[in-house]
Amino acid sequence: MRIDVVTIFPGYLAPLRESLLGRAADAGLIEVALHDLRSWTHDVHQTVDDAPYGGGPGMVMRPQVWGEALDAVIASDSRPPRLVVPAPAGRSFTQATARAYATEQRLVFACGRYEGIDQRVVDHYSRQFPVDEVSIGDYVLVGGEAAVLVIVEAVARLLPGVLGNPRSAAEDSFSDGLLEGPAYTRPEVWRGQAVPEVLRSGNHGAIARWRRDRALERTAKRRPDLLAALPEDRLDAADQAF
Ligand code: SAM
Repeated sequence: MRIDVVTIFPGYLAPLRESLLGRAADAGLIEVALHDLRSWTHDVHQTVDDAPYGGGPGMVMRPQVWGEALDAVIASDSRPPRLVVPAPAGRSFTQATARAYATEQRLVFACGRYEGIDQRVVDHYSRQFPVDEVSIGDYVLVGGEAAVLVIVEAVARLLPGVLGNPRSAAEDSFSDGLLEGPAYTRPEVWRGQAVPEVLRSGNHGAIARWRRDRALERTAKRRPDLLAALPEDRLDAADQAF
């Protein structure tokens, strides 16, 4: 997968070269290109923003510079792009979105700052290829860069070969519609607290049932909305207690 990020702070995206993502890039599983939006400005101050029409506080990112930048970035690779514009007013980014993005050949991210990007940029490119305005949560960040880090990490770990053990992603929270239950490792007793006995029993059926029950219990308590949205056929007879 090819990932392009257009931003006024390319240095903010340095973590894309660290850890799991860095290894995925080294292995050729993802290819990341960072682009400085200011390199498409034409004035001495490299201006990327202007006052909002209609008045009000803050500044809006200018469409001309975004148009030049995105035209050039999109033309720099032949793979079909999906443009992702982080925005608090966008659709919620979820594990289902991450799964859908993991099937794309190319994601191009446009990082807003200030009051965001002139809406005509999204409207213009939406006529040419898929464009999503995406929110990573109901709060407001200073810029889109942190959102891009979140989205890329969630997507990249789903790409074949990125995680050492692909079962990890398959058994994570949200993959079966539930939150994952608690996990334990050695020692058997820590500060007076013992690991649940069933996990040490070697009885795989009992362990699977215990894990399923803890996942259901945790989801019911913390995210009843997820449980309510679970289709009937995803619950078995023993699940009905929840
Ligand atoms: N005026 C905008 C609004 O109220 O919807 C907020 C702009 S915010 C200060 C600046 C930039 O941060 C946005 O253009 C977007 O790129 C990013 N951003 C802020 N919160 C975000 C969120 N929850 N999800 C995704 N991106 C976000």
